[in-house]
Amino acid sequence: MSVPVGQMIAVVRHVLRERWRGNHRYPLVLMLEPLFRCNLACGGCGKIQHPTEILRSHLTPEQCFQAVDECGAPMVSIPGGEPLLHPQIEQIVAGIVARKKYLYLCTNALKLEEMLPHFTPSPYLAFSVHLDGPKEEHDHAVCRDGVYDVAVAAIRAARKAGFRVTTNSTLFTDADPARYRRFFDEVMALGVEGMMISPGYSYEKAPDQEHFLARQRSQSLFARILENAPRRWKFNQSPVFLEFLKGNWDLECRPWGTPTYNLFGWQKPCYLLDEGYATSFRGLMEETSWANYGRASGNPKCGDCMVHCGYEPAAVEATFGSLAGLLATARLTLFGAPKRPLPPLPAAAPAAPLRVQPNGLHALPVLGQSPVAIAAEPACDRVA
Ligand code: SF4
Ligand code: SF4
Repeated sequence: MSVPVGQMIAVVRHVLRERWRGNHRYPLVLMLEPLFRCNLACGGCGKIQHPTEILRSHLTPEQCFQAVDECGAPMVSIPGGEPLLHPQIEQIVAGIVARKKYLYLCTNALKLEEMLPHFTPSPYLAFSVHLDGPKEEHDHAVCRDGVYDVAVAAIRAARKAGFRVTTNSTLFTDADPARYRRFFDEVMALGVEGMMISPGYSYEKAPDQEHFLARQRSQSLFARILENAPRRWKFNQSPVFLEFLKGNWDLECRPWGTPTYNLFGWQKPCYLLDEGYATSFRGLMEETSWANYGRASGNPKCGDCMVHCGYEPAAVEATFGSLAGLLATARLTLFGAPKRPLPPLPAAAPAAPLRVQPNGLHALPVLGQSPVAIAAEPACDRVA
């Protein structure tokens, strides 16, 4: 696991305080979505499918700070849309850092290098760069050639300027374990602090429904990719979550661990599903029918989900919930995972050809800025 000591201490202190208070459901990471618009149109993205008037809107810095204060989580993640398109992103970042929250600003990095002078390096701020695999796979996933190279150059520039940088990678059905192992080596060689990996989840809104990983295939794939993981690979995820991805540790989803706040309010029940909104964080915790979610609930929307927003908080709870969990995590951290026979790899759905379709999404004027430069770029979608 690769996070600064101060961040680890803040998380442990938060977990112990909540447990001491007898609070079983507590937030760990606030997923703050200040806008949905983006300068890419990835086939697997469910966030950019909102109507134009929503894509033109964004949260104010004050709304963001109110959400951070209400929630109280020690970490904040700002996922996509593309946060660097927000006209007040510098104020938002500065305000959250001033609150001593550990902030991960997720970005596709198209604007990262030019925006670096607007931020100040801090132990509380990390850029989490979207890289869905080696160059070919990443450019395919984001439906645009050349994005991988831009992201790699931006990572180098951010590291040189003294910023913390991590990567986040979503893996799809056609992932080749050997290529991803080489990719992890390349990413670590860029000097990133750690990598975050996750299986894709089939958003109802996402145009690409063919390439998301079912649970059994996810486990087989991650077991292969992470087999005998070299110590130079650093993940900013808990060892228990990585064992869960490999099918070696059973966890139950804790969606309240990563509450989502966006233009509509507090999203029920999680970052992935969109089943109504509460007007306050307290309302989210009290009004959501939590028993209807997670694998044990039998909800078909949750059956194959292994995404970190539900299961990383479960991994943290498993670590600190008992002495056995703590010792097992210490063993995994110190000695790595025990060698196990690899499960069979179920056949993937046949790779689908790319279909390029016109999409007016990128023609949106970005409020407070000039129109997005790639307005003429086509967006793509995969079809069977
Ligand atoms: S980079 Fe891709 S996945 Fe991320 S918000 Fe933009 S369109 Fe969605
Ligand atoms: S299992 Fe996945 S989709 Fe279901 S509530 Fe948890 S995170 Fe959301």
